[in-house]
Amino acid sequence: MDNVRFNPRLADIVPYDPKYLPAEHMISANESPYNVPDEIRYEVRKRLKRLDYNRYPDPLANELRDIIADANGLERENVLVGNGGDELLFNTALAFGGPGRTFLNCPPTFSVYEANAELTGTAVVNIPRLPNYRIDEMAVLTRVAKGDIDFIILTSPNNPTGQLVSDTFIRHLLESTDALVMVDEAYGEFSRATCRPLLQGHKNLVILRTFSKAFSCAGVRLGYLLGDAEVISEYLKVRQPYSVDAVSQLIGCTVYENRQLFAPAITSIIMQREHLMEELEATEGVHVYPSDANFILLQMERADEAWEKLYEQGVLVRDFSHTPMLEDCLRVSVGTEKDNKALVKGLRKIMRERRRESAEIVE
Ligand code: PMP
Repeated sequence: MDNVRFNPRLADIVPYDPKYLPAEHMISANESPYNVPDEIRYEVRKRLKRLDYNRYPDPLANELRDIIADANGLERENVLVGNGGDELLFNTALAFGGPGRTFLNCPPTFSVYEANAELTGTAVVNIPRLPNYRIDEMAVLTRVAKGDIDFIILTSPNNPTGQLVSDTFIRHLLESTDALVMVDEAYGEFSRATCRPLLQGHKNLVILRTFSKAFSCAGVRLGYLLGDAEVISEYLKVRQPYSVDAVSQLIGCTVYENRQLFAPAITSIIMQREHLMEELEATEGVHVYPSDANFILLQMERADEAWEKLYEQGVLVRDFSHTPMLEDCLRVSVGTEKDNKALVKGLRKIMRERRRESAEIVE
């Protein structure tokens, strides 16, 4: 047969592309610039020697669930581990979305939320952020009051814009709707803020976290949810049984047990962020948005052209300039001191060249 019964629902769907390219300074994907500390890697190697490769992993990663639960003052039933936060986001759309169900989104934000809704046939209600990228809290509350929203995702700090969601607003929202409210705290460690205390008394709150950012494990694929036991049980109905492999579970346990070893890197990234912010603010023609995460959103004229020029200089950043509401924006991850210096140097060079070009035009 020279034909296949392709699914027309997928005809307009564009696969997710993280736009990852090789570069000397990789500051496009909000990863940690530091590898996992040596002590932990050594311990992982030791534990790997005892791994039974022939056996299926524990489907629910209960050892890791217990370690996470214990650290967060919760029970095993309040925790679910997934193959990266991405899997848990997809499972959210599967469990709480679907045909006839509605998701409330606050763009610009992580594009995967809307893509998952589209894939699962979930209707999307977009409540755009204000010009300073804060959530339009009144508009969200007003829309939610109609009573037809099934789930909401609030990202705190938001990717790619960097702002935290206010605790007061989350509390208010949780009390005014029975929709599932997910607070995505993928970058929470860099803000030193969490809405975890709100889990008490709010069955409709679920928190998403990841090992990919502050815990330097983007390559391992581990994320987790904290939530009410009944909500977590809903997720069990849709998840793939063995999505978290035995090696990831082993690494996850070792990393989480030793998570205090990541504290110096987190502190250093936060300090570097503040320093980078000042340097970028002092760069003519670059507008910087405040950030509580490990990345910074910046706006400049002809950002797409600047992306190319930065890449030519070995600096890979993320170009959002063709995304609605992020016109002329680039997102840069906070890297090592060397990465950050290369970025600032690259941007200043671009700006100098632009000034020279416009001076030549005037002459
Ligand atoms: N949430 C947000 C806001 C993110 O930016 C990301 C990663 N880009 C994730 C969740 C998922 O991360 P991971 O699948 O690596 O855990």
